[in-house]
Formats: sequence, structure tokens, C-alpha cells
Amino acid sequence: MKALIWHDKHDVRVESVPDPVLINPRDAIIKITSTAICGSDLHLYDGFVPGMHAGDILGHEFMGEVMEVGKGVRNLKPGDRVVVPFTIACGSCFFCRQSQHSLCENSNPNAGIAEKFWGHATAGVYGYADITGGYAGGQAEYARVPFADVGPIKIDDDLDDEQVLFLSDLLPTGYMAAENCDIQPGDVVAVWGCGPVGQFAIQSAYLLGAERVIAIDRFPDRLQMASDWSRAEALNYEYVNIAEALKEMTGGRGPDACIDAVGMEAHGTGLLAAYDRAKQWMGAETDRPMVLREMMRTCRNGGTISIAGVYGGFIDTVPIGSVMNRALTIKTGQTHVQRYLQPLLDRIRQGDFDPERVITHRMPLAEAPQAYRMFRDKQDGYVKVVLKPWAN
Ligand code: NAD
Ligand code: ZN
Ligand code: ZN
Repeated sequence: MKALIWHDKHDVRVESVPDPVLINPRDAIIKITSTAICGSDLHLYDGFVPGMHAGDILGHEFMGEVMEVGKGVRNLKPGDRVVVPFTIACGSCFFCRQSQHSLCENSNPNAGIAEKFWGHATAGVYGYADITGGYAGGQAEYARVPFADVGPIKIDDDLDDEQVLFLSDLLPTGYMAAENCDIQPGDVVAVWGCGPVGQFAIQSAYLLGAERVIAIDRFPDRLQMASDWSRAEALNYEYVNIAEALKEMTGGRGPDACIDAVGMEAHGTGLLAAYDRAKQWMGAETDRPMVLREMMRTCRNGGTISIAGVYGGFIDTVPIGSVMNRALTIKTGQTHVQRYLQPLLDRIRQGDFDPERVITHRMPLAEAPQAYRMFRDKQDGYVKVVLKPWAN
């Protein structure tokens, strides 16, 4: 089959590789009809996640048609259409029983590596380096889906791929980021980052009862999308001082909750940003915490910091004194996607979400290397691409 292969930083290629086969009784093989590139894939593309190997197949947002199932999969049959959650989870361990699927204890065969780095292991994720299991990803014509009896959700034929594809990751991620804010009537929520995760976080914050949502980024088209699509109040951090603007917009108190939809590659200006870039380049700091610092200082006393952006390891110069003394709550995590599949599918049907609006580009899988470059450079109004493995 054809698949997108990671070779090195900024070097990904579509190549022929062996087709996946069933390994375990609870596996399924999916023929992928639509797949996408996530902000998390950019961290791999930019070389910030250790434990990638030349030959790894990328991609964790995908859907398609079931081709084959193992003996242990009774709820799916060949021909079913499914969306696959990016978190691989067994459905029956301590964490899965509490619907904390991204912490599954049985789906990461490289748990030892994760324990060394993070203290404890987390769930397996498709196409995401050794530390999350080294699984082959879904930017490919086919993929093997473990625990297929508990992960994928069936999709009826009246919904097309683009309406439901983002159930695999982005929509639940934006939703969980907002849910973690424990939004109360009248709340003001500030969202850093207006990529797809930010857009869905903004929409979800309104749906969950926020009175005002403030969207922060530097790309005018993304800010425009946030205000047109979700009536967010947009701030461009290249032109305004975010700390001062947030104070002014909230009567001096600060937002009730702050969402990080940016992650480890936060862009910034000034001395601290240069310090982060230098330390990250030397390998002395894995992540650039510009956004975390800003949230920790601007959130109101007693407020909530919700981190959806992905961080890998260690950061520096983080104002923990501000967090402690001002009684902030931090909530975070890779998304527990399985928990949100049915409720968010219902919300798509009800018209609460129209996820396909975030799509700005459609390309065949063969052009994936170009799509990664466009995404990295945010060229041509790029927000989100859907890749079609079977298009010519
Ligand atoms: P994206 O790259 O499209 O969007 C990131 C946005 O952040 C960009 O628009 C960028 O301009 C903006 N940004 C950069 N620095 C900023 C700053 N200092 N202040 C404000 N905005 C800034 O990516 P995406 O697909 O929307 O993903 C966003 C983050 O969410 C990534 O870190 C991704 O890894 C993470 N993510 C997490 C999960 C999870 O399970 N928690 C799932 C999916 C994605
Ligand atoms: Zn993702
Ligand atoms: Zn589990």
C-alpha cells in the first residue's frame, strides 16, 4: 500500500510499504477513505518529538471502511464505515473503566520508555513515536486498528466523511479543553491558538455556557474564522499586549478560564521567546512555554488553565508561584476520545457543530509532503487539509 513515511525532520515521503495484517483477535483492518494532518503531527515533522524512526508511518486522524476483523471483534463487520479515535484503548482497564481512555494501561507496548521519561506510561497513539507505542499511523491506504471492538464508531451513510472525520481527534479535543474549564454562566474564556483545536474549543466554550470567548493568534484569517464562525472577540498578539488587553476586557480581573490550543511550538517575540528557542535548540528544554506563562499570569485568581496543546517533556521559567498563590487549577491530557464519540456525533446531527467548515484544503495522499509544508508555513490560508488516499 501507499503510506506517508517519516524519514527525518522536514522529510516525509509517500512510499510503498507492506499492507497491514491482523495480529491480535481484537484487531480490524480499515481501508482509509479520509485522513488529516493534526497540529500534533507538526511537532513530529519539526523534529521536536524524540523516538521517531525513518520508516514510521504518520497519521492519527482517519476513518474508512472495515475490510477484515479478528475473531474477538463482534460489533463490526466488513463493509462498515467507521471513524477511528486517535487514542488506542482496551476498554476494560482501571482508566478505561473511568472513561480516561488516553491513559489506558494495556495499549502501549513501549510502556517502559514512557515510564522512564514521564514516570508512568499512557495509552498508545497511532503514528506517534516510540513513547506512545510506535504504532503505524493512518496517513495511508490501510491501517491496523487494535481493540477495534471498543474504539471505532460506526457511521451511517447519510453523513459524509468530512462531516465526521474530526471526531477522531480535533472536535473531542476542543470540546474536552472547554469542558475542563468547568464553565459557569457569565464566564469569560480566553483561547490561545486559532487552529482547528482552538476553533472547536471556542465553539465548545460557547455551547457549554461561556458568555464571552476571547481568541488569540497572529494569523488574521484564523482570527477572522474565530469571530465569523463563533462570534469570538479576536486579539492579534502581534499588535496588542495580551496581558493588558485581557485585563482591560475583564474589568481588571482576568479571564475565568484560559485554554492552551497551541502547545510546544508556541511562537513568541522578545527576550523570553529567544531564550526558549535557544534552549530548545540546544536540547536543554523540550517545549516552548510562551503560552503557558502568559495563561498562568493572566488568568483570574482562582481560575482554570486548560491545556490541550501538546507538550513533550521539560520546560523552564514557568511562574509556579503565580499558580500556587493565586489558587489556579490546571487541567490537561491527551483527549479521552472514545468518551466523546457518541455525544459529539449526536451534536453534529443536531447541528451544534459543523466540523467540515474548518477544512480549507483537500488533496490526494500523494501530495501529503506538500500539505505538511503548507501547514508548517500556514500558506494559502491553510487551516485544515483532508487527504484522500484513494484519489488520483
Ligand atoms: P495549529 O498549528 O493549526 O494551530 C496552532 C495555532 O497556535 C496557530 O494558529 C498559531 O499561530 C497559534 N500560536 C502560536 N503561538 C501562539 C501564541 N504565542 N499565542 C497565541 N497563538 C499562538 O494546530 P492545531 O491542530 O489546532 O493543534 C493545536 C495544539 O493542540 C497542538 O499542540 C496539537 O499538538 C494539540 N493537540 C492536542 C490534542 C490532545 O489530545 N490534547 C489533540 C490534538 C491536538
Ligand atoms: Zn492529533
Ligand atoms: Zn484500557
